[in-house]
Amino acid sequence: MPPRTQAVPRPRKTGLRNPPRLLIRSSDIHAAGCYTLDPIRRNSIIAEYDGPRIPKKVADERYGGRPVTYLFGFGEDGDVIDGFSTAMFLNHSCDANCETEERDERIFIRALRDIQPGEELVYDYHLYDSDLSEEAPCHCGAPQCRGTMYSEAELVRRAKLLKRKKA
Ligand SMILES: [Zn+2]
Repeated sequence: MPPRTQAVPRPRKTGLRNPPRLLIRSSDIHAAGCYTLDPIRRNSIIAEYDGPRIPKKVADERYGGRPVTYLFGFGEDGDVIDGFSTAMFLNHSCDANCETEERDERIFIRALRDIQPGEELVYDYHLYDSDLSEEAPCHCGAPQCRGTMYSEAELVRRAKLLKRKKA
């Protein structure tokens, strides 16, 4: 299934004060990306990663094997948000200008630095809980690119699994 780049759902009222105007358009990093039309100040909350909450097991059944998904893990029970808001279009970069923050089982996008109008908003996905057969190469193009969207801990976990599999 191609990435869902067409219909952009209206953002739900998140209670964010003065959120910047965001634009979804094609990105050099991957498919579609999320750009700001307004200047954003360091530390401000930009958007909420919103969508239906589903158990990880349901997400695996629904999306297993798909190259592109918009899932975000939250909370203690391994549930995920099935992204359905502007924030799901933020791409991964190893040179992030945003980070994610969990508050009361809600996920928000926060600016790591001042961001100028026209900049693409990106955060480090720190992907985890992957299948060994799944690769998550990074093409962000940053000088410090680590070549993968997996977290450091996930890389360690995968290396161990691979070793065990070979043994
Ligand atoms: Zn990278």
